Amino acid sequence: MNLKIAISYPPLESEKGVPLLSQNRQFQWFNSPTYIYPVIPAYAATLLQKNGYEVFWDDGIAENLSYADWKKRILREKPDIIAIETKTPVVERHWKIVNELKNLTSNSSPCKGEEGQWKPKIALMGDHAVALPEESLKKSQVDYVIASGDYDFMLLNLADHLSKGTPLEGGFYYKDANNNIVSSGQSDLSKHDLNTLPLIDRELTHWKNYAFKNGNFKHTPGAYMMSGRDCWWGRCTFCSWTTMFPGNNFRTQSPEKALEEVGNLIKLGIKEIMEDSGSLPVGKWLEDFCQGMIEKGYNKKVVMSCNMRITGIRNLETWKLMKKAGFRFILFGLESANQITLDRICKNLKVEEIEPGLKMCKEAGLEPHITAMIGYPWETKTMAQKTIDLAKKLFKKGFVDTLQATIVIPYPGTLLYKYCRENNLLLTNDYSRFDQREPVMKSPLSNQDVKELVQDLYKSFLSPKFILRKILSIRSWDDIKFLWIAGLRVLGHLTDFSKKEKY
Ligand code: SF4
Repeated sequence: MNLKIAISYPPLESEKGVPLLSQNRQFQWFNSPTYIYPVIPAYAATLLQKNGYEVFWDDGIAENLSYADWKKRILREKPDIIAIETKTPVVERHWKIVNELKNLTSNSSPCKGEEGQWKPKIALMGDHAVALPEESLKKSQVDYVIASGDYDFMLLNLADHLSKGTPLEGGFYYKDANNNIVSSGQSDLSKHDLNTLPLIDRELTHWKNYAFKNGNFKHTPGAYMMSGRDCWWGRCTFCSWTTMFPGNNFRTQSPEKALEEVGNLIKLGIKEIMEDSGSLPVGKWLEDFCQGMIEKGYNKKVVMSCNMRITGIRNLETWKLMKKAGFRFILFGLESANQITLDRICKNLKVEEIEPGLKMCKEAGLEPHITAMIGYPWETKTMAQKTIDLAKKLFKKGFVDTLQATIVIPYPGTLLYKYCRENNLLLTNDYSRFDQREPVMKSPLSNQDVKELVQDLYKSFLSPKFILRKILSIRSWDDIKFLWIAGLRVLGHLTDFSKKEKY
């Protein structure tokens, strides 16, 4: 049976803006649309097609479709499996969509020329699904919940199961004939060898939709890849993807395989690649990858960015090698300038390591970006101010180029969420409010304090010295465009956090 599988992101219309759902460890609504290429679903699409299944890449969000148009289209396409990636702030909306599709398809009548006997199986996947798989089966008519981060391998297994009777591997939740929720057992990530994955089919997955509207790209068209799943540390208590990929299960593709992906993207005309493993593999892997970039001449054709831990690289030579290999933008999670916080969130970082770590990266000619958060349950205003002061100092000294400020959100499945539940720290159980627009944990700060401190954090780069340095660093039209977009993004974020909520 030749099944057709849709990998779907139904449009989620909201006054809050456009949802940044795919390939995102922290869900946000954005004023100016940002579309991030969903790498694991793209592997799923490619793997399914290579195994003879028909694939319908259905990202209604990145295509800017209205929900009504998306619904018409999915009813026309009639896939046999609809796989939807979900996250906490939108999971309730996804349950409604699942129920609507299920009701539409079960009530349809072939006699009236309606949807005939089309009865798709619907699967939910993503970090929320992994954290609370049974919940979606209780709250919606979903058929399968994939409680594993490897949606690619899992979707192929599901398609084989439905079309050929292949047994389900561990990691699926569904209802049996008696309507009881059952599981196929524990998911085992170690069974999935990332080197067996095909090169991503970028045309099948509509790469152009994600190549331009992304503020991380200085050069466009840009693209995403992921050589590791997901982060070799993988223990931070707030990090939603540790639910799917705990650090002790960290796996990588070989450097050669990662270089093949880069080569393929260069052939497409990609100018900048975000390597979006939670933390880029280090040590020999990184050295081999960088040497390969240089030997193949890829460093002259494409610019690379990545996520890295501040203490991930402790010597200038490696940073210089990365620079030579074509790296530009390095994203670091700084999170807080308070040691007590870094310890409590299990960041494995000392405050005194932050400045020298970023300085070394900058010295090699790279562009460090930091992320920091406000609203930890134990942080006072003075403690939050310490983080803002450190950010200001880092900008002033020229050790960082850009910053992202967010409100700490305890996502289900994380240790932070467990801590909040056990200590009665949640302000709400309404998932739709876990969307970075307001604090959802009790803390010594008021709602307004948190928003103002996030704004202050965003404004921390505003020193005349930093602005002058930025202006003097302009070398090309791409630099001007990037600075302009970065400025607009900061203004957008300031607006996000200054709005009176009406939702
Ligand atoms: S270092 Fe970053 S990606 Fe890794 S677990 Fe911590 S927050 Fe997540």
